[in-house]
This record gives sequence, C-alpha cells and structure tokens, in this order.
Amino acid sequence: MPWRFALLIDPAASDDPREDYSRTFSAVAPAGPVLPVGELSTQRGDGIFESIGVIDAHPQEVEAHLERLVRSAQICDLPAPNLAQWRQAIAAAAGHCGTGEAVIKLILSRGVERGPAPTAWVTAADAADFRGPRAEGVRVVTLDRGHDSGAPARAPWLLLGAKTLSYAVNMAAIREAKRRGADDAVFVTTDGLVLEAPTASVIIRTGDEYATPTPAGGILQGTTQASVFSWLDAQGIRTAYRDVSTDELRTADAAWLVSSVRLAAPVSEVDGIPITVDGDVTARLNGYLLSPRD
Ligand code: PLP
Repeated sequence: MPWRFALLIDPAASDDPREDYSRTFSAVAPAGPVLPVGELSTQRGDGIFESIGVIDAHPQEVEAHLERLVRSAQICDLPAPNLAQWRQAIAAAAGHCGTGEAVIKLILSRGVERGPAPTAWVTAADAADFRGPRAEGVRVVTLDRGHDSGAPARAPWLLLGAKTLSYAVNMAAIREAKRRGADDAVFVTTDGLVLEAPTASVIIRTGDEYATPTPAGGILQGTTQASVFSWLDAQGIRTAYRDVSTDELRTADAAWLVSSVRLAAPVSEVDGIPITVDGDVTARLNGYLLSPRD
C-alpha cells in the first residue's frame, strides 16, 4: 500500500479539556519500526479501527466514523476516545492525502501487554483502485458464518457489532470466495439471513424498495450504507432495515456491496445466479458517494 503518512497518538482521556492536541502527536515513518513487539493489536488483534474514505483531501463523514469508533470502544471495554483529539489527527492526516482517492485509518489498540495505556495511531495511504468492481460488478458467494441470528444477543463477547482489528476470519472468507470462483463473500446465518460482506454492507433492491439487514443482527453498522439510505430517503425512495433472506438476495432486482473506500460495487452474481447490474443507479450512487460528504 503506498503510504503517505503515519501519526502516533498519545491517547487523551475523553474529558480532557485541551483545545490543541498537537503535542500528543508524533509523525513516524510508515515503514517503521514503530510498534513494540508486545503490542496487543499484533499479538491478539485486540483493538478497534476505522477506515475513512478521502476524496481530494476531504475525509468523508468523519463524525459517523467517530460515532462508530466510540461504539466499538464501548463494546470492547476500551477507554472512550477523545473525539477532539481524533478530529485533529484526522485533519493532520488529510493534509497529506493530495488529490484523488485515499484512505485514513484510525487504530486504537489495547496497548502493550501489561502496559499502562492503549496505543493509538492514524495512517493515510492511497486507496486501492475500485474502478473495475464499481463498473463491472462483483460475483459473490454466500458463506455460513456458523451461528444463527440469535447469537449476537446470546453471546455479546463475540463483539459482532464492533469494528475490531481481528479480521483474519473476514480475510479467510474472501479467500474461500475466490477458491469458489467468486470475487467476494456474503456472510449468512445458519437460519438463512443475510448479514454482511467481510468488508462491506449489503443493500438489495426489490421492486421499489432498497433494503439492508437490520444492524441489530450482529453486523457492523455501515457508514456508507447509512449515507446511501439518507440520500435515497431525501429523494422519496423507499428504504428499509429488515431481515433479508438468502433467497431474497439471490432473486433481488439489484444488489450492491457498499463501504467507505470501495463505495458502491454492484453485485453481478450470487452463488452462480446472475443478478442484473443496474449501471445507471450505480453511477448515480457513486456520483453521490464521491461528492464531499460531512
Ligand atoms: N461490514 C464490515 C464487516 C466492514 O468491514 C465494513 C467496512 O470495512 C462495512 C460493513 C462497511 O462499513 P463502512 O461503510 O462504514 O465502511
């Protein structure tokens, strides 16, 4: 990944009243070495993160990402993030993004084993090139996540609604999808409900309704999906958070994977069954998602 910038942050308490946090930041060389070997983010994947899309140096929907960072911290029993400090770190990183599409990552780890405090850092890098998937679509396979739709309520320690650093399972699912001849995966429950892709939310269109699985079902609340729904709502287009069955995904009139950096990639195939790629709606969605959003 072509890195542009990395900043270590000495995390301030959430009620720290300072106005200027620049003294808590130290710019580091992204190629490292930077982190101690006892870092629990690398030892155990014990931490949380956010990936913010950046267009022409403008970080998109910062507040929505910070809200989710706070939620993830709560779920993982990490100290509440100081939002003013994170906003200033994001602004510093955005200053290194230049023109075009980039990504700013926020990382908050539990810190060093037996250490006194969490570790936090921000990076800026060029975004991967998603023009192909946005234009041509992605073939997905549904993969069983191995639990039913009641698991998030029964087992909150699975941290299903938090954006944790533990993405090994998600990456394994994408590799399995590729072994099966697809581009990406969509996780489903054992009782046949659509959850999310390993790194994206799922939106389907059936008739005149755009629907997405309800966030109470143990999925990450997508900032891009929420932004798309408010854009659709403003045009009077019907949106719904509800259960979406695997069969509904397979027979949808159109479907998309959406996330902060990929934006909207239409689904062209589910489990080998072709789905119509609505190029016109996709272009309008991506036109909106590429415009500056706060
Ligand atoms: N679901 C998962 C598991 C993700 O990893 C992501 C993003 O990486 C999303 C959904 C989409 O979230 P957002 O639109 O905020 O990027």
